[in-house]
Amino acid sequence: MTVSDCIFCRIAAGAAACEEVYRDDATMAFMDINPANDGHCLVIPKAHFENVLDMPPALFGTLASAAAKVAHAVNEVLQPGGINLTQANGAAAGQSVLHVHIHVLPRRADDNLLMNWSRDGGDDGRFDPQRIAGIAARLRSRLNA
Ligand code: AMP
Ligand code: ZN
Repeated sequence: MTVSDCIFCRIAAGAAACEEVYRDDATMAFMDINPANDGHCLVIPKAHFENVLDMPPALFGTLASAAAKVAHAVNEVLQPGGINLTQANGAAAGQSVLHVHIHVLPRRADDNLLMNWSRDGGDDGRFDPQRIAGIAARLRSRLNA
């Protein structure tokens, strides 16, 4: 993908319009064009990476740090009831723009916004402590390798 193919690269380069709210050496933030609530912002790395699996983990840390700064500003300015920091990787996870981004999404208690998973549906086997322990063991092996 080239810069001209990616809307968020074009925004980062100043080649497409946005309501910018924050910029530093590696990241920037701007208002979501289709906000789920007032104050809904997106925080991106200025360099193109498709998703968290495509970028150095430390750069995701830099991105998360910028998202926290934006969240503090959103909290002070808009005083929402709460804030979701949410982030999708891949179409199956609901990612529609293939340039990694963190949503800073202010919430109100009565906004009725749905997260994209059900907490009471799905496969009941996922609650099985042995299944959870087995998956944890596989993840520990991978993370400590
Ligand atoms: P996701 O579905 O997690 O990939 O989120 C993509 C987000 O980007 C959506 O909330 C869109 O409303 C937002 N979006 C898409 N194009 C633009 C744009 N040109 N400027 C600002 N936000 C955008
Ligand atoms: Zn891009």
